[in-house]
Amino acid sequence: MPLTPFPEPIFITRPILPPVSLMTDKIEQIWGSKKLTNRGEQHKQLQKRLEQYLQVPALALFNNGTIALMVGCHSLRLSGEVITTPFTFPATPHVLAWNNIKPIFCDIHPSTLCLDANHVESLITPGTTAILGVHVFGIPCQVQAIQEIADRYGLKVIYDAAHAFGTEIDGRGIGNFGDLSMFSFHATKLFHTAEGGALTFRDPNLRDRIEFLKNFGIKNEDEVVLTGINGKMNEIQAALGSLVLDVLEEERRKRRRLLGIYKERLGSIPGVTLLEPPPSVRPSYEYCVIRIDAELFGRTRDSVYDSFKGFNVFARKYFYPLCSEYPCYKHLPSAAPSRLPVAHRAVQEVLTLPFYGDLPEADVEKICTILLSFHKRNPPASG
Ligand SMILES: *Cc1c(COP(=O)(O)O)cnc(C)c1O
Repeated sequence: MPLTPFPEPIFITRPILPPVSLMTDKIEQIWGSKKLTNRGEQHKQLQKRLEQYLQVPALALFNNGTIALMVGCHSLRLSGEVITTPFTFPATPHVLAWNNIKPIFCDIHPSTLCLDANHVESLITPGTTAILGVHVFGIPCQVQAIQEIADRYGLKVIYDAAHAFGTEIDGRGIGNFGDLSMFSFHATKLFHTAEGGALTFRDPNLRDRIEFLKNFGIKNEDEVVLTGINGKMNEIQAALGSLVLDVLEEERRKRRRLLGIYKERLGSIPGVTLLEPPPSVRPSYEYCVIRIDAELFGRTRDSVYDSFKGFNVFARKYFYPLCSEYPCYKHLPSAAPSRLPVAHRAVQEVLTLPFYGDLPEADVEKICTILLSFHKRNPPASG
């Protein structure tokens, strides 16, 4: 049977959309309350539910993940240099730059693709104040090793957990590691509020500082105590979040089944590796990510990415390019490609495939068949 393109474009994700009638009910409640933002009832409920779901002692809601991370860095009074990864979304190093902090790029671990704890120590200088790790694709950083280094040098530890909603290590919520973690609730993430985000933190004494900082530094009617910003989540975002949370476990179950099909089908293609967390980790199911070894597979990732388009499959080179290659960071000594060999290889090999609960199983099968048809052993595919 000839392989034909999908009739409609298939993208890597699709937001969870609860029935619109449920959202209308929520909107009516909000209208009735006459309170659209500034910690209303919806905000209170979502905050409490997320603290439970993520198993964290404290959580603050934000209008997006980037502002949450900016406030997080500010709340810990970070300055000078912060060690981070080049293999991430632009928001991670930009947040440091907006806090007047110099990002120091550290090479990544070959299997987790997160900042490699083995290289952190050599990058520490008297100016270093923190380590900012990213749990890339929901696969955790080496949290224990990172904490040990931080403790030895008196550094703070922050995590960009934008991809790790619901990830657990040995049954512990990922937000419990480090001093604080940021979650993104952007529509492309697993759990979302259209736009939104949160900080989770260990020290409940940080609560007031973070709440003041996300509201212009206002403490009360008479006092503005900090250089705050506007990071507040509004009631409509929070209401949507509650509805998305109601169906999240169902979405995760569907995604687990699809990932099983991907795993089975891709396991037999030489040169293709599915990225998976270790057995001690409960995955987030945010992304389905493969690495393509150009030599073994016979085609480069870029060529696979382009050929997929001919079949109406829009995979993503996620993350590409490396942050250390942006014009604003390229000049930094730590951005030199010779110091980041593992990251430079990964950024050429990683490809994110379509992955969302409503993606039909037959479509996953077909995406795998299309990928197999690109392999060097097979004659050129049509499409
Ligand atoms: C999505 C994302 C962000 C940004 O989150 P927003 O909520 O869109 O501001 C930051 N870091 C990573 C790794 C992300 O994937």
